[in-house]
Amino acid sequence: MSKTSFCIANWKMNKTIQEATDYIEKINKMDLSKSSAKMIICPSYTNLNDLIRYENKINKITFGAQNVSSENKGSFTGEVSISMLESIGCSWVIIGHSERRLIMQEKDSEIARKIELVYNSTLNPILCIGETSAENKNGETHKVLERQINTAFEYLDFENNKEILIAYEPIWAIGTGTAADRKSIESNIKIIKNIINNINTKNCNIYLLYGGSVDENNASDIFSIDDVNGFLIGTSSLDVERFYDIYRQI
Ligand code: PEP
Repeated sequence: MSKTSFCIANWKMNKTIQEATDYIEKINKMDLSKSSAKMIICPSYTNLNDLIRYENKINKITFGAQNVSSENKGSFTGEVSISMLESIGCSWVIIGHSERRLIMQEKDSEIARKIELVYNSTLNPILCIGETSAENKNGETHKVLERQINTAFEYLDFENNKEILIAYEPIWAIGTGTAADRKSIESNIKIIKNIINNINTKNCNIYLLYGGSVDENNASDIFSIDDVNGFLIGTSSLDVERFYDIYRQI
């Protein structure tokens, strides 16, 4: 039986509305029946509302935001709230991406509040976790992953029926062009699985993804690892042909 799978594009701060629309128009013409993966595209906020309108035409694709505020509403200039995302029919939101953790100094406690807001909304979360190169070298990976997962889920009772995606993204592999080696993905996915197994996740379905320099050449090998249910893809998702090539392999 084929595994439930997810192929997620994280466009980060790339693509004007014209570029984003062209991409979706192109993918709309491709044969999406080649894979049973759920395709999720995460564009910038400025493109999200326009692109979501394509969901009705292309039932294989849903859309996600790259972030959400940890506050509900009010005087938070530049922020976008969970109810704003709900109001445009957004389905997913990436939480705790390493770029936000490192560049924007996002803390575990803030990520926990965001996860709680998403959990109590109509959206589903894509939680990013992963160790830095130094933490990896110091043998701290297990400790880091445990802390990131346990704090992120601190306020959840798991009673709601939700799909929760956890993307394991070793920071030392992101944007480098070289994915983590199979052995470390296998062992760290196993660690994450064990941490999750110790939580009573009740009515929630949790799926594990890998992210970090996934491309058309390494996708099918990484996807063959037990409990890897798909990918969160940065660089290779920017080109529609490359992204489709990965999608059709999973
Ligand atoms: C990411 O930033 O989530 C990511 C996986 O990027 P890349 O695919 O470029 O490594």
